[in-house]
Amino acid sequence: MAGPSEKLTKPRRARKCAGCGLERPKGEMLRVVRAPDGSVSIDASGRAQGRGAYICRDAACLDRALKKNAFARVLKHPVDRSFYGEVAKLLKGESGDE
Ligand SMILES: [Zn+2]
Repeated sequence: MAGPSEKLTKPRRARKCAGCGLERPKGEMLRVVRAPDGSVSIDASGRAQGRGAYICRDAACLDRALKKNAFARVLKHPVDRSFYGEVAKLLKGESGDE
């Protein structure tokens, strides 16, 4: 049996989407974060302090997340429906169609 336990450590770059549940590279996803004070916001930098949830930059995933209130589940904190609207707006702006 070769080598140290490196192989047991999964690379942490992939993140699971709160909507579809698939893992994707962090860079392809949008992060939302629950700050230590309990406020939930979109983490544009991807580096904010606090508990994070990830979602594909895809309106369909956001819709799924909304239906099961996935952000609240992942963040272990209530998340207002209007927050999903904010995320939707951001995704729309990024995709550039319309
Ligand atoms: Zn997804």
